[in-house]
Amino acid sequence: MKRALVPLVAVALLAGGCAASKPAAVGTAPAPVPTAPTPAAGSGSTQPATTPDPGTAPAADDGIVWKQGGIGYPLKSDDPRAKGKKVVMLTFDDGPASVAQKGATAEILDILKREHVQATFFVTGYGVQSNPDLLRREIDEGHTIGTHTMTHPELWKIQTREGIEKEMLGVNALLEKVTGKPVKYFRPPNGMYNDPHGYIKAVARDNNLEIINWTTGALDWQLKDPQKITDQVLKTIMPGGIVLMHDSHTWTAQALPGIIQGLRDKGYEFVTIH
Ligand SMILES: [Zn+2]
Repeated sequence: MKRALVPLVAVALLAGGCAASKPAAVGTAPAPVPTAPTPAAGSGSTQPATTPDPGTAPAADDGIVWKQGGIGYPLKSDDPRAKGKKVVMLTFDDGPASVAQKGATAEILDILKREHVQATFFVTGYGVQSNPDLLRREIDEGHTIGTHTMTHPELWKIQTREGIEKEMLGVNALLEKVTGKPVKYFRPPNGMYNDPHGYIKAVARDNNLEIINWTTGALDWQLKDPQKITDQVLKTIMPGGIVLMHDSHTWTAQALPGIIQGLRDKGYEFVTIH
């Protein structure tokens, strides 16, 4: 009889983020808001069909611009070449995290490099400050970097706009010092972007930050088992899917080769946002 509980629990936690618990009422469902700005129609059509970066093969990134179809919705593209493509984007939160911190960013970067997959890392201020070398690798190896607050608080509980700005923008300042470019993407801790005053969305909007959530939670923070994590991703993936994982866990690195292989077997190509 105990067994019957398992699927129920799994369903309840499907959308789960990185903390062990989360209130269900705030920010869990994709918001029925207008979609994020998309490139003008046809803007991608004059781009070359091959990747502009010779030396990195095979070319999953073929110049097609993919955008989130609204917060927490699958990726979409206006480019005619995108028609019929099955794509997926891997995202890693909470790093960079070193081996000493029981993290696996370096190992995950090794796997992504070997597999020619580009991903998106949502980094924290403490990760950037403690592992500048790993951040450098993420940038140098062509991955997209978004931010994930300074200290990973329950952002929606902070009652002041100033407090939320400090968490959201402090890490941007650290990152921009390294990249020289403005940060474009933000993922709130646990995906919670609705606070009682609407400050999170307001700060994002006023700083040209697109909030990026996910369609497919790997539940790596909870499952802690490479095979179960792999199964969870392969079971719940959808075309255009955005997969949430954490480079702060070693078992996620152990699951990654199987996830990549399993997705390829299902006909998916790996893309990221730029
Ligand atoms: Zn997180």
